[in-house]
Amino acid sequence: MADCCDSPNRVVTGAQNTCPHCGAKGARVELTTVKALLTELALRQFEPGPHSFCPGATCSVVYFAADGQVYTTTDVRVPVWQKQPAGARRICYCFDENEASMAREVVETGRCGAVQRVRDHIAAGRCACEVRNPRGTCCLGEVMKAVARVESECSSEVEK
Ligand SMILES: [Zn+2]
Repeated sequence: MADCCDSPNRVVTGAQNTCPHCGAKGARVELTTVKALLTELALRQFEPGPHSFCPGATCSVVYFAADGQVYTTTDVRVPVWQKQPAGARRICYCFDENEASMAREVVETGRCGAVQRVRDHIAAGRCACEVRNPRGTCCLGEVMKAVARVESECSSEVEK
């Protein structure tokens, strides 16, 4: 899969880093992403240094730094779908592909074209995941998973 947001000079470290709140393994994020997504108030506390994203669904921490600083969902300018209940979560932050519109599309047309739409936008050079998506990476893989989830939920509802 093409990672539209990977810059060639990106530094990927193999260091294990765990969320100080929930112990989940963090995923390193670019500082550009953290700074773009923090609220004005939270950004005033920001110190440069390695930051990671906590993927824990029940943990309110979104970013944590090596020095122990944490930023929670209220410190981030957009809802973080990984920490929201399923159903209407925005998966693609650049072009607003969300579970509610995916489900509506499946009900109305029998399928969801979100993956192809996102692919087309990526090909057209429009995606801005590094400053819009709190995870800081291309959403395409997650959009594919979300469409599969929504389509299987909708088809099982029809069978009922
Ligand atoms: Zn956590």
